[in-house]
Amino acid sequence: MDLTQLRPADFPGLSYPCACGRTHRVGIRQIHIGGGCIGALPQVLEGLGVSHVLLLADSFTRKAAGDKAAGLLREAGVAFHGKLFETDKPLVPDERTLGAALAALEPDDDVVVAVGSGTLNDTARFLSARTGLPYVIVATAPSMDGYASTVCPLILDGQKVTKPGVYPAAILADTGILREAPMPMLTAGFGDIIGKYAALADWQLAYALQGEYYCAECAGLMAQAVEKCARNAAGLRARDSRAVECVTEALVLAGVAMGMVGNSRPASGAEHHFSHFWEVDALSRGEAHPLHGNSVGVGAVISASLYEMAAPYLPDGFPLPDKGRILSCLKEAGSPAGPKELGISRGLFLESVLHAMEIRERFTILRFLDRQGLLPACAVELANRFYSE
Ligand SMILES: [Zn+2]
Ligand SMILES: [Zn+2]
Repeated sequence: MDLTQLRPADFPGLSYPCACGRTHRVGIRQIHIGGGCIGALPQVLEGLGVSHVLLLADSFTRKAAGDKAAGLLREAGVAFHGKLFETDKPLVPDERTLGAALAALEPDDDVVVAVGSGTLNDTARFLSARTGLPYVIVATAPSMDGYASTVCPLILDGQKVTKPGVYPAAILADTGILREAPMPMLTAGFGDIIGKYAALADWQLAYALQGEYYCAECAGLMAQAVEKCARNAAGLRARDSRAVECVTEALVLAGVAMGMVGNSRPASGAEHHFSHFWEVDALSRGEAHPLHGNSVGVGAVISASLYEMAAPYLPDGFPLPDKGRILSCLKEAGSPAGPKELGISRGLFLESVLHAMEIRERFTILRFLDRQGLLPACAVELANRFYSE
C-alpha cells in the first residue's frame, strides 16, 4: 500500500499486511483535521455511541476551545459535566492532576473529552486506559506528537516516567483553534516534526548496522509529512492556516506511524534523548524546562552535526540528515536552533552529548560515535561551535 497517498482521515481502522513483514493496524476510530471541525464534536460522540461526557479543560484551554466545546454539547443536548483545572502556569501530568481527573468521574460517564494539548491529553489517555472508557481529544495547540500516541509520559514522585495508555477514540484538531495557540507552542510542534529528519536517519542507521526492524513505507509516510512542513516553514510565523495544518497533520501522523510499527522509531531518535536529558536535569533542580518540541528541534541540529562528523565512518552512501535544511527551516519558522537559545549551559550541553544515549537502549548516532571512540572529541568540537561567543 502507498501510505503517502492517504489523507489523515483515511488512517482510522486501517489494517493491512505490509511488505515489511508486519500487519499494520490503526486503532483510532476518527481523525478530523481542518478549520471548524470542532463543530463535529456532537456527531463524533454519537458515532462512538456515547452520551455522558466528562469534559476536561484548564484555565488556558477553556478559553481556547473548552467553552466552545461545552456550548456545542449543550446545544446538541448531550449530557456532560466539566472538570476545570484552574491554574496560572502550565498543568503538569502528576499525581495531583491524575487524581483530580479520576475524582471528577461520575458513575454514568461513558466518555472523557479532553480539551487541551500535552498534559490534558496524557491525563485523559491514562484515565481511559485504566477505566476502559474511550476518550476524545479536542486539540488546542499543535505542540507535540502525542495526540495519536498510545503511551502516557507522566511525572510521578517528581520523576519522568512513561506508562502504557491507549489511542484516543477520536482526534479533533480544528486548525482555526490551533493557529491561535501561543507562538512557542507552534514552534515546538514544528521542532518536534523537524526532529524527524534526525530520527529517521537513526532508524535507518540501526537498520543498516544492527539489522533492526525497519519499515520503508512508514518511514516514507513520515518523511513526506516532514517535507510538507519544511516547505511551509515560513508560514508558521504568520500563523498561516496551511502551515499550521501541515504541522498538525504531521504530528498526528507521527503518532499513527509509531502505532503502526509498534515502537517510536519513526518519530524519535537521539534528538529526543537530548530533549529528555535536559528535561530530567531541569526537573531534578525544580526548574522549568523549554517545551519538548523546541528542545527536539535543537536536538536535531546537534544530531545532524554529529552525522556530518561521523560521515567518513558511516556505510558508503548512507544518506545524512541535511543539517543546512534543518537549520534554515527552524530559523524560518522562528523555532530555537541552538542549545544556547534554549538556555542550556555549556556544561550541561557537554554532559548531554556524552550521556543522553544512556536514557534508553536504542542505537542512534550517539551510540555509533561512542562505539568508534569518537564521542568525547565530537562533544568538545560541538561545544566550541555552539558556545563560541
Ligand atoms: Zn511496514
Ligand atoms: Zn517528540
